[in-house]
Amino acid sequence: MRKHIVAGNWKMNTTVPEGVELAKAVVAKAAEVPSDVKLIIAPPFTHLAPVAEVVKGTAVGLSAQNCADKTKGAYTGEVSVDMLKSVSCEYTILGHSERRQYYGETDAKLVEKIHLALAAGLSPIFCIGENLDEREAGKHFDVVTEQIKNVLYTLTPEEMANVIVAYEPVWAIGTGKTATAEQAQEIHACCRKVLAEKFGALAEEITILYGGSCKPSNAKELFAQPDIDGGLIGGAALKAEDFIGIATSF
Ligand code: PEP
Repeated sequence: MRKHIVAGNWKMNTTVPEGVELAKAVVAKAAEVPSDVKLIIAPPFTHLAPVAEVVKGTAVGLSAQNCADKTKGAYTGEVSVDMLKSVSCEYTILGHSERRQYYGETDAKLVEKIHLALAAGLSPIFCIGENLDEREAGKHFDVVTEQIKNVLYTLTPEEMANVIVAYEPVWAIGTGKTATAEQAQEIHACCRKVLAEKFGALAEEITILYGGSCKPSNAKELFAQPDIDGGLIGGAALKAEDFIGIATSF
């Protein structure tokens, strides 16, 4: 039985006090979520230490949104995996399309990051997905296949067992346009098949999340698909009620 996960990517939203309040609201509502659904929140770096205090001893997991590709030293503005571990982070998002698009993150860079994260004991939430041009050109299966092969094929099965994959069509992120349940299912099935070619039966155990304008009104249909194991949620994760509404949609 694969783990069901709903993870909230807060992106560059909320001040620290607002973020602490949001985390408290999520924790207060977490009991509404079935026990087989794992809730994770990914606030900005500045919020991690105080939010760690809020989620401590609860079922809500703490994730970063990124990590450095170096362990320590003269890398101004970067945050290392050890720093994340030191504030009780258990997960980190890697390869979000906004990092790829605006900050030039390449698959090669992500290989370095994912190995560092795993070696530090963090579980990466590794994002893949095609942009609108690639979708319209019918290249979406090729794009996600290449992203998986370039990065995840460098892992051992033991490492892969600690990775969560998030399929996020770039054209659906923050646009209000959601992939249909059928579109999402067919590409999730493709991702699992590509993972099975390298990792065999382990692919059946890997959690693959859908991300892209997921909200309480469409989560049920998406999560009913056999290869969709939960969601990576952006905008709707900024309201505890919506986030929990999504997590109760299985
Ligand atoms: C995301 O950026 O990971 C995301 C899914 O955003 P949204 O839900 O706002 O489309």
